[in-house]
Amino acid sequence: MADHPEGAILQRDGKTYAVMARSPGGLVTPELLERIAAIARTFRVPEVKITSGQRIALIGIPGEDLAAVFEELGTDAVRKTGPCIRYFQSCPGNRNCRNGTQDSLGLAIRLESLYREKPFPGKIKIGISGCPRCCGESQTRDIGILGTLNGWTLFFGGNSGTRPRFGDLLAKNLSTDEVLDLVSRLLEYYRMHAGPKERTARFMERITPETLRSDLLNQIPCTPLES
Ligand code: SF4
Repeated sequence: MADHPEGAILQRDGKTYAVMARSPGGLVTPELLERIAAIARTFRVPEVKITSGQRIALIGIPGEDLAAVFEELGTDAVRKTGPCIRYFQSCPGNRNCRNGTQDSLGLAIRLESLYREKPFPGKIKIGISGCPRCCGESQTRDIGILGTLNGWTLFFGGNSGTRPRFGDLLAKNLSTDEVLDLVSRLLEYYRMHAGPKERTARFMERITPETLRSDLLNQIPCTPLES
């Protein structure tokens, strides 16, 4: 297969690609939708799909059109497919949902601005929910955050896939600044101690939540949970 721009994903047919447009928290603008529609028409993209990670996939693009599609998408194109932070999934939170207790969308957008496509040992998916109903699938994401009346609760090491795992409940009652601080520390810890392609679920099974807590949580100003 010929070289193709980073970010293009070879499809099952072995000859066409998917290109992703980012949409942090699942938010899009009319301008982005219009640009995607124009690209789909211009390049006769056979399918446009909203992915499970709340991104927009243009599917079935031949290799010769990839460079032009990436250029049209500009900074809205997802450029990394290797081990990195893949997406920032969020429910509507307290901006729109009557059950919301925290601003999950705002937190997703903030995290995306900090960590978009940053490389890590394994791929990382982040799920953020505005209340304990957990519509952002926080408990089965590498980093899961959900809102309560008292602040944010943080999970680490969740996964769906063929060996699903609930994330370990690490801390609760965090302010937004505290949750951002803890996410930063967790990611740095994971970057330093995980093996190549070791997802956070397998990483936590190997090192154990107790080790992580004693290494990390004793240093932070929040309410850590007993195991
Ligand atoms: S998790 Fe809570 S705030 Fe978010 S959509 Fe579900 S019910 Fe609403």
